[in-house]
Amino acid sequence: MNPRNRRQAVTTVFDGRTHHACLCRGERDGLPVFGWGEAPSTLLTRTQLREVGLRPNGQDPVALLVFRHHRPYARETVAELFSVERAAVKRPPVPGQLDHAMEARRTCVDCGEVQNYCVPTSTRQCWTCFEGEQADRVEVAA
Ligand SMILES: [Zn+2]
Repeated sequence: MNPRNRRQAVTTVFDGRTHHACLCRGERDGLPVFGWGEAPSTLLTRTQLREVGLRPNGQDPVALLVFRHHRPYARETVAELFSVERAAVKRPPVPGQLDHAMEARRTCVDCGEVQNYCVPTSTRQCWTCFEGEQADRVEVAA
């Protein structure tokens, strides 16, 4: 699309609840194309959805957003726009991921053993290794 071609067309976008009659910059792949700030406020890009804790929820994009980044050499970017109405709240972390994170917090960096307590974040050592190291230091000092 030629960015200097400012000719606009009237289109109707259905966001899952409301039909919005609005001006667009034409169509691409059968979807209305909007410039930055021109799309109905209930349409968000994947990134914008993520920022507010939503995900597209398997829906097809309902429109396209065409914009350029501020840097002069940046090329035209096309982002898919999704309906907020049909988006879903992001799932909480999978239990397995949490277990994995907790296991990392209980793993000693010295012996690699998973303890039944969280190792101190300062040393990341289990008490046995920590005490062993302290004892070594005392011996060296003596
Ligand atoms: Zn250890």
